[in-house]
Amino acid sequence: MLSVKEAEVIILNLVQSLNNQHDTEIIDLLEASGRILAKPVTSKLDFPHWDNSAMDGYAVRYTDVQECSTEQPAILEIIEEIPAGYQPQLTVQPGQAARIYTGAVMPNGADTVVMQEVTHRQENQVFIKAVPKLEEFVRRQASYYQAGSELLPAGIKINAPEIAILAASQCNQLSVFRKVKVAILSTGNELVTPEQTLKPGQIVDSNQYALFALVQELGAEPLTLGIVPDEPEALKQVIRNASAKADIIISGGGVSVGEYDYVEQILESLGGKIHVRAVAMKPGKPLTVATLNNGQSCLYFGLPGNPASALVTFWRFVQPAIKKLSGLNNGWQPIFMKAKARQELRSDGKRESYVWGKIRPINGIYEFEIAGGNQASGNLINLAQTNALAVLPVGINLIAPDEETQVLIIRS
Ligand code: AMP
Ligand code: MG
Repeated sequence: MLSVKEAEVIILNLVQSLNNQHDTEIIDLLEASGRILAKPVTSKLDFPHWDNSAMDGYAVRYTDVQECSTEQPAILEIIEEIPAGYQPQLTVQPGQAARIYTGAVMPNGADTVVMQEVTHRQENQVFIKAVPKLEEFVRRQASYYQAGSELLPAGIKINAPEIAILAASQCNQLSVFRKVKVAILSTGNELVTPEQTLKPGQIVDSNQYALFALVQELGAEPLTLGIVPDEPEALKQVIRNASAKADIIISGGGVSVGEYDYVEQILESLGGKIHVRAVAMKPGKPLTVATLNNGQSCLYFGLPGNPASALVTFWRFVQPAIKKLSGLNNGWQPIFMKAKARQELRSDGKRESYVWGKIRPINGIYEFEIAGGNQASGNLINLAQTNALAVLPVGINLIAPDEETQVLIIRS
């Protein structure tokens, strides 16, 4: 059986990022939040666009004020008022200054701004009472960014700061990677939808809903295929169809060694190559990972049906795979942190164990609090409000309270 690390390496090596030529679309800036930039962006504009003032004050020539003091202020003639948005008309000559406001264009001739707090005004004269630094409070054109150079690289996620940058550079439309398409299906004769009346022995297909939400949270596009009964032909049909339109197929259930578990046979009969059959982890031992090619390459994840196992294996393996596929150039790897265990954490030590709970800062130190109640793979109730999984390596049976533990962050 593969270790978790071995399985992770195999899986992430199978994932090829979306193609930056073919797998892209053009979208409007207001739709760009959360999308991944497919092409680098350059701007024709310098930032700042022109020399401008960082203060309310007076635009002066440094040589006119370099020897002034409170006792012997420099006295300059005010030739113009320059508010923001106004194009200065005059050149500041020796002995002159212009009244200027934050963000306003620097007039020709002036090289320094004196803030108004160290000045005194009398009609059209200003008294400068303290020596500024040369070029003080002047934001030089192109000092933040030079037109034509790379403004934003490809492969980054677009969030509010990037949207501001794109807006400022008048980039109203941009090329992003298309969304990764993730088909989701559940297998099991016992499963019904939340709307159906439960008969004895039946349970609701909660995994389909959880996986839908997880896929959406990652910025991918979920394609729900519903519940497929434990019938090889039906399942084969659904998987074949899905593999023609999805980048990833996630199925829940039917991957253990039970009599009704057909998934691996079906994948092989569809020409699929199986890369992972089981992983030494708890929960989540029965995990199938395969590649299918039905006109396009498709990665198949057969997750165990137990709700906690399905989510843990999703967080550990599927989440980074979707992120890597999405075009992100970095930051798709799983995020591990060290935290102090609040309570004792136990494992049988035989498989790498994942314990669900909550990580949070307490007095500046991250602590991991185990979710109360039963840590059983069939229990979905105490998964509520969890944001992390403590990881107990093989051979470790106990992490005592206050001891440090490795934690996988599942939601940031
Ligand atoms: P399986 O992996 O098919 O052997 O299923 C393992 C356990 O998970 C069984 O108790 C199933 O009833 C349960 N299960 C399977 N699929 C789902 C699902 N989609 N939602 C919730 N529980 C499920
Ligand atoms: Mg089943």
